[in-house]
Amino acid sequence: MSDALPDAPLVLVVEDDAPIASLVCAALDSRGLRRRVCATAAEAITAAAELAPQVILLDLGLPDADGIEVVRRVRTWSDDLPIIVVSARADDTDKIGALDAGADDYLVKPFSVGELLARVRVALRRVAQEPAGAAEGAAFENGALSIDYASGIVRLSGEEVHLTPIEHRLLALLARNEGKVLTHQYLLEHAWGEGQVGDLASLRVIMASLRKKVGAGLIQTHVGVGYRMVQAE
Ligand code: CA
Repeated sequence: MSDALPDAPLVLVVEDDAPIASLVCAALDSRGLRRRVCATAAEAITAAAELAPQVILLDLGLPDADGIEVVRRVRTWSDDLPIIVVSARADDTDKIGALDAGADDYLVKPFSVGELLARVRVALRRVAQEPAGAAEGAAFENGALSIDYASGIVRLSGEEVHLTPIEHRLLALLARNEGKVLTHQYLLEHAWGEGQVGDLASLRVIMASLRKKVGAGLIQTHVGVGYRMVQAE
C-alpha cells in the first residue's frame, strides 16, 4: 500500500522482475512517492506519455524490446524527463548506449535502496530547479563555481579561473547537463572543434586538469563511462 499524496512526484518503474519491482516500490513508498510499474517496453512508452511521470527508472532487459528503445522513444517528445537506467554489471555497452540515447543516469544491479533513492532525489531536484530553458541561461552557479556564458569567465569563490578553450567547452557541457552522466563519446563529439573528434587519452588528461582547477568534488568520474557534474554540498 502506498500512502503517497495525490500530488507527490510520480516515478515510472519499468521492470519485468517482480521481486525487484516490489523492492523498488517499497523504497519509493517509504519516501511518499507515487509509482506505477510497467513490465514491458511497450507499456512503458505508453505510460510515459499518458501519465507524465517525473522520473523513469528503466530496466534495460525487458521481454519485448531493449530498454534503450524506451529511451529513444521518450526522447522524441521530451528532452528533460529524467531517465535512470538500471542494468546488470555485465551490460556495460548497453548502459553506455542508453546514456548516449539520452538517459540521465544509471544504477548497477544489485543496488542498495539508499543508492536508488539518492539517484531519484537528484533527478527530482533537477526537474524541480530547471524549468524548460533554464539550462540555456546566461550564467551558471554551483557552490563556489560560477560561469558567465556570455563573457566566458569562470570563477571559483570569486577568483577567475583560467581554462583552455577545450577545458572551457567541457565545463560548459557538464554544467548545462548538471546531474546527468555524459559519456566519453558524447564529450569527444561535442567538446572538440568543428570536424574534430578527440581521443579518450586526451580527454582523460584534460578532465584531470579541469577537475583540479574547478574542484574535483564537482565533477564525478564514472570509470569506463564518462563524467557528471554534481551539485555542490
Ligand atoms: Ca529485466
